[in-house]
Amino acid sequence: MVKIHNFGAGPAKLPTEVYNQIREELTDFRRTGISLLETSHRSPTYMKFNTEVQELVRRLLNVPNNYKILFLAGGGQGQFSAVPLNLISRTGTADYVVTGSWSALAAKEAKKYGKVNLVLPATDKYSGIPDQSTWKLDPNASYVYICGNETVHGVEFDYIPDTKGIPLVADMSSNFMSKKLDVSKFGVIYGGAQKNIGTAGVVLVIVREDLLNQALPICPAILDWTANAKADSILNTPPMFAIYVMGKCLEWIEKMGGLDKMAELATKKSSLVYDFIEQSNGFYNAVVAKNARSKMNIPFRIGSASGNEDLEKEFLKGADSLGLIQLKGHSVGGIRASTYNAVTVEEVENLVKYMKDFYLKHAK
Ligand code: PLP
Repeated sequence: MVKIHNFGAGPAKLPTEVYNQIREELTDFRRTGISLLETSHRSPTYMKFNTEVQELVRRLLNVPNNYKILFLAGGGQGQFSAVPLNLISRTGTADYVVTGSWSALAAKEAKKYGKVNLVLPATDKYSGIPDQSTWKLDPNASYVYICGNETVHGVEFDYIPDTKGIPLVADMSSNFMSKKLDVSKFGVIYGGAQKNIGTAGVVLVIVREDLLNQALPICPAILDWTANAKADSILNTPPMFAIYVMGKCLEWIEKMGGLDKMAELATKKSSLVYDFIEQSNGFYNAVVAKNARSKMNIPFRIGSASGNEDLEKEFLKGADSLGLIQLKGHSVGGIRASTYNAVTVEEVENLVKYMKDFYLKHAK
């Protein structure tokens, strides 16, 4: 059987070390004689573990003390609702910087709870981030919303926008813990774990304390950040196993050298692919402007800027046969290589080698 290299966008590859530890502890969590899967979320064992994972997040991201760290259910999309439900009450309006399909969906959801101001002109061709000088921010907005990394379109912020004192909210589902962040520049950061830091089921939410206590009365308790912060993320039965897997991934990141190391590797891996795309004389085509190219999800077309579907099909078939899997672009066609934390440099080198071979065979 060929060795598998998983470039899927999520749920995505986890480090081998994490699987080994899960296997070891699966039926005996911390020498309690039972699995975490059958442990009470109100037990001292779990409560201690809950605190430890929060401390790990705080250490890795250097989260200031005036921020709460929450582990919630409902996935990234749960937070599309939670953000307006918890924050829009101050002025009834919010700014959305739509740079891809995920922020577009978040804006659509927010419209159910208040007025949404689209900071950028509407488009369905997402290929970059317009210069901040062109943004139409509303000085009356309760918050400004961005998606730190658009997983489908491969558009990533490489800077933190200046929102003139209005709380900045960022969905970092697909680039959480891929680089250092100045958390103090954000009001809220959140992300589902299933791409870069674990498995589906848990969303990591980091919220500044002064933004609590203003949820709309209709906000369901399980999406209410204030209620969850008061309950230390044990308001109801938390997604304990997903939190556990996330904890293991975060320990792995720390052991590997922390976020500086993850950032160094992300730059190295993504540059390998982008550099070869640039060298291919238009055979491979990156679809995103250089200053907004994602280091996590790399979409590209083959044969022309809009893609030659036959060539792309052949590329995917050949890749599959070599164990280079889950490379198909989602909803926008073409190819997408996801190079999250757990994907190794060697795996990306294998992909680029295949891209070279395919180029040599097909380029005219
Ligand atoms: N935000 C981003 C950037 C995503 O990539 C995704 C899923 O891929 C979501 C939100 C939605 O997450 P979930 O499927 O956990 O609701």
